[in-house]
Amino acid sequence: MTERAFPVPDDVSAPFWEGVAEGVLRIQRCQECGRHVFYPRAVCPYCTASQLCWVDASGRGRIHSYTVVHRAPPDYRHQVPYVVALVELDEGVRMMTRLVDVEPARVRVDLPVELAIRGDPRLPYFRPRSSE
Ligand SMILES: [Zn+2]
Repeated sequence: MTERAFPVPDDVSAPFWEGVAEGVLRIQRCQECGRHVFYPRAVCPYCTASQLCWVDASGRGRIHSYTVVHRAPPDYRHQVPYVVALVELDEGVRMMTRLVDVEPARVRVDLPVELAIRGDPRLPYFRPRSSE
């Protein structure tokens, strides 16, 4: 029997996980060069400034890439098939996530998706945008 691994927030990533717990997707934005940053970091990867603030992301994006999992680790076997996706947010950053509320055969690159926070502890998943 294995334990499911859950994220352990640290000083840098805590605002992200607090946002998820509140139902909001927060990402960083560099106050020096203006670019959005994800995953959470202490220093901007584009200009090395340390003035990173937190902003609420739109929660909207598109599938950049994905895979359908058919053979999963023991604690996830009852969930197959499921989709692991790299979502590009409207803010321009990419986030590794899982898709929910979708048949794997319907998933395609560029599919519009939106945030769907689920589970205990709460985690940020994505689902196809309801309007499309
Ligand atoms: Zn920067």
